[in-house]
Amino acid sequence: RTDRPGPDAPVAVSLEHVTKRYAETTAVDDVSLSIREGEFFTLVGPSGCGKTTTLRLLAGFERPTEGQVRFGGEDVTSVPPEDRDVGIVFQNYALFPHMSVGENVAYGLEFADPPGDVSDEQRVAELLELVDLAGMEDRDPDQLSGGQQQRVAIARALAPGPDVLLLDEPMSALDAQLRERLRVQVKAIQRELGITTIYVTHDQEEALAISDRVAVMSEGTPEQIAPPREIYRRPETQFVAEFIGDNNVLSGTVTAVDEQVTLEVGPETMTVTPETDVAVGDEVAFCVRPENLQVDTDANATTATVESAEFLGQTTRVHLEWHGRELLVRTRDPLSGEVAVGFEPEDAHVVDVR
Ligand code: ATP
Repeated sequence: RTDRPGPDAPVAVSLEHVTKRYAETTAVDDVSLSIREGEFFTLVGPSGCGKTTTLRLLAGFERPTEGQVRFGGEDVTSVPPEDRDVGIVFQNYALFPHMSVGENVAYGLEFADPPGDVSDEQRVAELLELVDLAGMEDRDPDQLSGGQQQRVAIARALAPGPDVLLLDEPMSALDAQLRERLRVQVKAIQRELGITTIYVTHDQEEALAISDRVAVMSEGTPEQIAPPREIYRRPETQFVAEFIGDNNVLSGTVTAVDEQVTLEVGPETMTVTPETDVAVGDEVAFCVRPENLQVDTDANATTATVESAEFLGQTTRVHLEWHGRELLVRTRDPLSGEVAVGFEPEDAHVVDVR
């Protein structure tokens, strides 16, 4: 199967008003969310936002202070990890160094009856083929690259045929190139099995690349749960706008509303096309992606000064100074000195109205 599950797919896993408090910290704050069967669902957010705690609550390593965890509608809040039918992969592969690759995978079979009527050897061979390590049974873990070791860890987690796969920053110990390769492989494995997968990362690009839906978390709560494109194109809050990709967040006061909305933004008058209701006098924050800030345009044109530039290969990310704040623009051509930049009204997206 290749398509992501639709909104009518049955719910596989849900959190209902789940809170987890430690002494002074509320790590997870009244979270309710539902994950569909076969969905690749990612929790992303900055350090300390509660992603790992949420995953540990799903795995059963932690009990919520309040609220319920449900698997397939069944309350599993008090069910220990070994009885939850989940496979788990951690950041540091945690393979047993004294066991061969095949023995590591077979270890995953000791705790449950694997699906189908196959011998352990056959099952291990199938799993290694699934993770693109066919025939590697007799290798030692230390003869494998980090990416290969992590695929062994995934095979081991999948060995008992769990309903749900939980992955906690499985790629963060790998270098950038390996990470990009492994994320394509992980996605392919997930699609092939159609297994409900919950993935934790602090890497927003990885989250967008790999997921059917993403929950962007801040301070123990998801700020937005949506498919990657929607998260990128229509961030619901300033936090999401700034955490996911580069963004320019500007704010101003509404001075006129008709088909377009006119705002005083610092010393400039700008027009935006809001999807949100706004009224004269509102304070409005809106964002414009760097790739939508254009040089030498008539639309919402303003003058800014080039401060620095980073050559990124396909594009250059230019940092501009504009009335005491930074604007980011992505261009193909180098820029210097004073430049005129602007944006089309429909490329502005309102994130906050006060
Ligand atoms: P990171 O990316 O750094 O792992 P995270 O988003 O996964 O961060 P959590 O590890 O879930 O965040 O932590 C959320 C908050 O709960 C943090 O403030 C953390 O210090 C706190 N916390 C987590 N585990 C415990 C614990 N066992 N005891 C006390 N506080 C904890």
